[in-house]
This record gives sequence, C-alpha cells and structure tokens, in this order.
Amino acid sequence: MTDKISLSQGGGGLDSKQLVDSIVKILENPVLNAQDDAGIVSVGSGKIAFTTDGFVVKPIFFPGGDIGKLAICGTINDLAVMAAKPVAISLSLIIEEGFSKDNLNKIINSIKKTAGEIPIVAGDTKVVEHGAVDGIFITTSGIGFQNDSCQPSGSNVMPGDVVIVTGSIGRHGACVMAAREELGFFSQIQSDVAPLWELLSPVFKAGGNEIHACRDITRGGLATILSEFASSSHIGFEISSTTIPIDPDVKGLCDALGLDPYNLACEGRALMSVSKKVSDEVLALLKSNELGKNATIIGLATDSHPGMSYIKTSIGGRTILEPPAGELLPRIC
Ligand code: MG
Repeated sequence: MTDKISLSQGGGGLDSKQLVDSIVKILENPVLNAQDDAGIVSVGSGKIAFTTDGFVVKPIFFPGGDIGKLAICGTINDLAVMAAKPVAISLSLIIEEGFSKDNLNKIINSIKKTAGEIPIVAGDTKVVEHGAVDGIFITTSGIGFQNDSCQPSGSNVMPGDVVIVTGSIGRHGACVMAAREELGFFSQIQSDVAPLWELLSPVFKAGGNEIHACRDITRGGLATILSEFASSSHIGFEISSTTIPIDPDVKGLCDALGLDPYNLACEGRALMSVSKKVSDEVLALLKSNELGKNATIIGLATDSHPGMSYIKTSIGGRTILEPPAGELLPRIC
C-alpha cells in the first residue's frame, strides 16, 4: 500500500472498494454503512432516498449521450433501484476556463431533456483555471420517496432468489473505450445510458417486498455488483454465462481487445434478485418495456458458498466469477 491515491482506485473494482471502505470507516453511521445506491432517511412518517455522484467522463460527448445525460441518469437510477420515485435533483458544475459556451449549452439542454418531469431545484457553478479540471466535471444529487411496500437492499438477497439482468451488459464501457481510442468500426457502439425509473417502478409495484435487491450496473460491471450483493448478503450465486445478454458489437470489441464483458460498465441496466414466486411476473413486466426487452434470468442465489459467485461457462465448466482488480478504464462515468 502506498500513501498516495492511485488511478485504479477510481475504476470501480476491488481497489475502489478499498478506498470507499476507508472513507466509510471514518464517517460511519448505519445508513452509510449499508453502502446502498442511496441512503434511506426517515422524515416524518415517510422514507426519503438521498444520493449523490460526481461525473468526469472522457470524452464529454459520446455515441448515445454526454456527461449531462449521464449525470442525470446516474442520479435517477441510484434512486430508482432503491424503489424511490425521484422528486428533485441538484446540479453542481466545475468548468474549466476556456470551455466552449456552445458545448455547455448542449450539456444543459441534455440535462433538461433527460430529467424530464423531475425538476433541477438547486445548483452551483465554479470556474477554475485552465488545466485544473478537464473541460467540465458535474456533481448531481437527488432525493426520492421510497415506497413503503418495497425496500430493496444489497444486503437483502435470499437463498433461492432468481437473478435477473434488465438488458445486455457492457455497452457504456465499450462505447467510451471505443470513442476514446477511435477504434474504427467499434466507435459506432452506442452507450446504454438511460433513466430506469419508468422501467423499474411497475416491477416494484407488482413485486413489493419480494424484490429483495436491485442495483444499477455501473463501474466494475456485472461481476462487481454480484460480488457486492454476495458480500453484503453473505450469500453466493450460481450464474450461467450462456444466458447473460451481450450484444454482438460489444462482444466483438471484447474479443478484439481481450476485455471481460462482465467487468464493463453499463449506465442503463439493473441487476435484480427476486423471490422465485414473482420472477416470471417481474421478467414479463421488464420485457414489456423497450428498455427491458432483453431482460433475462441469469442465475440463482444460494447459501451453499457465501460470498462467492460461480459461473458456468459455455463449454460446461464452472469457474469463480471475481470482481475486477487493478487498473480498469478510468473516467468511464
Ligand atoms: Mg448505483
């Protein structure tokens, strides 16, 4: 361990987790310790979900989105996966001196379009000297009302749960990588960035407390979310690789560059762990929405190997699915 922060601690894998754990250890309280996508705070007789995220993606504009759309989706999704209806968002901009006014207006319009009915109710702007940030960095916070009958958490996965992914994985990571490296054909890969409340809200309504855990798949990819659920819930997973939806263009990029699609970020997908009795209904509801049309059951939760996930390979083998470690793609979101 060195006494300096490394780039790998921002990538979303095991190194990021160590950094976050060291901060949570100092600030610790029961809400923060849960390390869910949003903190749940009781206000009067209701429950408020509260979340915040910083966005430093490079490039700022990419196929399918931009840093503004990403920021709003990230905040909406961290509320949505906690079964909390987003009600208000704040916006903080740190802008580099010399940044194009046109590009700023494009980003703000993208924010407005993505937020839709959800108002941006507070904000801040700072301008810093050239080189102090790279173009523009954005921080968004959001609050939402949590539905009483459904309180999913990463620590709530039960043995026998059915694991569902809401769509094909890895598109955002593949898109940003291809856009940054100008990888010819692959540079057309579109990010999956999308707000998930409209997709998930009917599922929470129908499934109630049978929806045990739900998390948006972001940095570190599917493998990281499974590992987080496994460790928080002291449970294991049996996953079937052949059922995990991966689009041909993303698979092509992974094959060409030797990347693991299970470690690639999404920005418009969620992983859910739900009781078997509602899994068919959940799947049907997801599939009825354009954003969830490729939703798939990818495996089961089990108490036979707590903290560990196994994945069955396409040739019938069985191997441990581990979260990524070391240098991942920085500034993916
Ligand atoms: Mg999240």
